[in-house]
Formats: sequence, structure tokens, C-alpha cells
Amino acid sequence: MALNKSMHPRNRYKDKPPDFAYLASKYPEFQQHVHTNLTGRVGLNFKDPEAVRALTCTLLKEDFGLSIEIPLERLIPTVPLRLNYIHWVEDLIGGQGDGGTRRGIDIGTGASCIYPLLGATMNGWFFLATEVDDICFNFAKKNVENNGLADLIKVVKVPQKTLLMDALKEESALVYDFCMCNPPFFANQLEAKGVNSRNSRRPPPSSVNTGGVTEIMAEGGELEFVKRIIHDSLQLKGRLRWYSCMLGKKCSLAPLKEELRKHGVPRVTHTEFCQGRTMRWALAWSFYDDVAVPSPPCKKRKLEKARKPLTFSVLKPTVKLLRAPESGDPAPCPVELITAWLEKTLTELKVLHKRVPGEEEAELSLFLTAVENSWVHIRQRRRDHGRQLRELPRAPPAGGNVTLHPAETPQPTQDPPDPGSQVTDEGGPDSRGGEGPEEVPVAVEQEAESGTPPSGPAQPPSPGSVQHFLFKCLLSVREEGGSGDVGVQMHWVEGQNRDLMNQLCTYLKNTLHRLASAPPAPPLASP
Ligand code: SAH
Repeated sequence: MALNKSMHPRNRYKDKPPDFAYLASKYPEFQQHVHTNLTGRVGLNFKDPEAVRALTCTLLKEDFGLSIEIPLERLIPTVPLRLNYIHWVEDLIGGQGDGGTRRGIDIGTGASCIYPLLGATMNGWFFLATEVDDICFNFAKKNVENNGLADLIKVVKVPQKTLLMDALKEESALVYDFCMCNPPFFANQLEAKGVNSRNSRRPPPSSVNTGGVTEIMAEGGELEFVKRIIHDSLQLKGRLRWYSCMLGKKCSLAPLKEELRKHGVPRVTHTEFCQGRTMRWALAWSFYDDVAVPSPPCKKRKLEKARKPLTFSVLKPTVKLLRAPESGDPAPCPVELITAWLEKTLTELKVLHKRVPGEEEAELSLFLTAVENSWVHIRQRRRDHGRQLRELPRAPPAGGNVTLHPAETPQPTQDPPDPGSQVTDEGGPDSRGGEGPEEVPVAVEQEAESGTPPSGPAQPPSPGSVQHFLFKCLLSVREEGGSGDVGVQMHWVEGQNRDLMNQLCTYLKNTLHRLASAPPAPPLASP
């Protein structure tokens, strides 16, 4: 279940995939479909529709107390994916329904009637469930009745050509909180077989595609189907607070968003549903100004990344190396030692820094303002220096006046380390990409040409007072669990590009690393 980590955080299967062995021991009907492999692992053949159906019915029974019947020749829903969609609807409408009755429409409810059954059971939502197919309609109605949910779920048969308009004709005053839809995905048989919709290098789908013709195929595929919902929504507008639709193909997102933009729909968002090895996407739009719009997952991931601090550890032996022999303090605190070393190095790098109160008592924090990319200059200069050394004419073996042709100059693939210096280039194995000089702002690059090693400014401005800066960050230093190791964290505050903080972090880390791997220093005078 490769994608389960990215399931909706409230999805009950997120960190707890179904326990087939347990379910098999409890449900004899399910047991018939499981097999135990040589290592004793209990598995299920997802290519067998009967096995998939058994799993769905068993999970609905075990985890939601629902008993359903579905014919093999109609779409068999998978529970984790349907749950992901229900949870996203909760996010859209701002809650599970505790603030009053919530009403939704499920367009094309299928034989299972799964969305209304889950929404009503989990959240007490009212549902209008539509269906065009007779078999699906009859099964859906029966599934609702058998679970005693007819008070909450109304299943209606609608003509093929209509989507929302006809279903809403009768109740002209009622406002629905949302509609949801798992549209027929495929435009034609070829698409249904996986031609067009999947990258040809990808392996064939790992699960079976069950489903009848009207269920999985629609004229023009999901794109046209969803466009029809959009056009209905342009007439219905505020009759529903949120319109939503699942998509089987990521490439459907852009044209549908464009369609919504063209018609000036004010609120639009999307998400992705990850479960097992399958991904699906969903789009939602609203004509209301007061709805909260959940962020799409890519933005969320970026935000999470931005919030996550960069960290590295300085191990106890390295901390010890920093102990100044002349220091009067017999046992300087490791956090203080590292902080002092960082202050010295940052001064050399012309990165403005100022101590600020740490979050915890045992923590020291520095507020950093980087105004120029000195760490890349140093690295660049080391490289140039190394290159110059390599390109120097060599003494000819026989004493003749021979100049080595550049083409004959051995070009090492990696810059050699510069062990004699504290401030060296960063070509170590853990240096990150994106550090190329092309990323360095021009003004800063010119300054680098001066070639003087960075030294502390005569009168450093206060970090908060500079107007032009590359980035600001908060660096905190704290001891790691009494081990004598010290943890350094860099929290992004603001600036041009987080990669710059990444570079500085790598620079500091590598410089400390080099200190530790340098030949042993002469024994220290003080204990
Ligand atoms: N919601 C179910 C079924 C999805 S399959 C699930 O998630 O498992 C799509 C369903 O839409 C099929 O049952 C199909 O019969 C139905 N359908 C197709 N066109 C429709 C339309 N115009 N109005 C309502 N339902 C439609």
C-alpha cells in the first residue's frame, strides 16, 4: 500500500491497513477469498472482482456496521478511496456536521450507494442520491432500506441527459451544502482498457476494473461529464455551497479549472486522493464568498516543507574539539561552545547575527540576517584556486620548456578537499543541489570578485535593521538528550529563496565536519 501515508489524515486506514488475517478469521465469506503465501502472509487477489467485493462488504460491515449487496457486473467501490473523498467533503463544508444538518447530493450513486451510506452513518448527513441505471438504482434503494437509512437518504432515478438540474427541480428553495460525484471515467472502450489514460511504461493496473457500461463510460469521458456538471452549476449557483467531482486522470484538472476560470467561478480548489497504488484527483468550486477554501495538497506540502527546520547534529567529539585551551572555564557547556563557534564563523561569513532568547532554557538562539552569499563565494574561490593549481604548467621531465595543453590537464570529477583551511569548499557528499553560482544574485556575485576573504565588518549593523537581505532565519542550538551531542536547527523566517538557507546550513555542517575529520590537534593544555 505504497500511497497510504498520503491518505487523508482522518482516514481510518491511513496508518492501519485492513488486517486480512483478522477479517478472514471473523468473516467466513471473506475467508474464501484470501490466500496465505509461503511466508504466512494473508493476501487478496485484487484482480478478482469477487475478492474485491468481499473486501468492500467486509470492511463496511466491520468498520461502519453497514450491510450491503452489490452485483458483480457493476462498479465495486473500494472503501479507503471513498473515505478519502468523504473526509475532503468534510473539509470543504467545514466540519462533519455537528453545527446543524448537512445536505448533500451524490450524482451517480452506483449500486452500492456508498457515499450516502458512509456520509449518513459517519456524519448524519442527508443525501439525495441520483442514478440513471435501473440495476444500480434498485440495489442502491435496497441497500439504503436494509441499513435503516431511508430517513436520511433519498435515491432517485434520473434520465441520462440530466445531472443536477432535474434532481433539484422539485425542491426549489432548499440549499444543499455540497454535491459529490464519481463520474463515469472513460470516453470509450480503449480508455477503459487503459489505453491513453496511463503512461505506457507503467505496469498494468493492479486491480480489476469492474463496472457496467453506463457506470464507467460516458460520452466524452469524465471531462465532458464534469463540464456538464459545471454548466448546471452556473445556473444553480448558490443552490449548493460546494460543487465537487472526483477525477480519474490528473490531466483532466487543468482543462476543467480553465472552464471554471472562463466562467468566472470565484472559488476553486482541488485535491488528490492517495490509497493503495491508486491515485485519484478531485475538483471543487463554489459561488459563495464566505466558504473556507482548503488548500490544494501541493501548496500544503510546500507550506509544510517551509515550516520544517533544517537540522544537523554536532557529535560530542567535535564539540570537544572546539574547546579553546586558553578558556578559563573548566567545563564549558556544549551548547555555548557550538554557539560561540557559529558566531565566529557567521562573522567571518558576514552573516549578521544576534542572540535572542531561546524557546527553552537550555537552548541558545541566534537571529540571522544574510545580506550576501559569502558561503558560495568561498566555495567558488576554493574551486578556482584548486583549478589554477591543477592548470599550472608542470616542470617538464627532461627540463625542456614545455607548456601543458589544457586538454591534457587531468580534470578530477570532484574538487579535492582543502584540508589546510577551516573554511573550505562544500563538495562533500551531502552537499545539496541547486547551489550553482547562477543562483547567486548579480550584485553579490560582483562583490565576490574582490577576492578578499570574508572578515567581520567593522561595525556590523543590527540584523533586524538591514533593508536588503537574502534571507532571515532563526538558528537554535540545544543539547540532544544529555548525550553531549548538540543539535542545530535553522528555521526559515523570510527571504528570497529557502535554498540559500539550505546552502548556509550545508556550509556550516561541512565546515564542522571537516574540523572533526582533520588530523588530531596537539594535546590540549587544560583538562
Ligand atoms: N458513486 C458510485 C458509482 C460511481 S460509477 C461509486 O463511487 O462507487 C458512476 C455512476 O454514475 C454509475 O452508477 C452510472 O450509472 C451513474 N451515472 C451515469 N450517468 C449519470 C447521470 N447522468 N446521472 C446520474 N447518474 C449517472
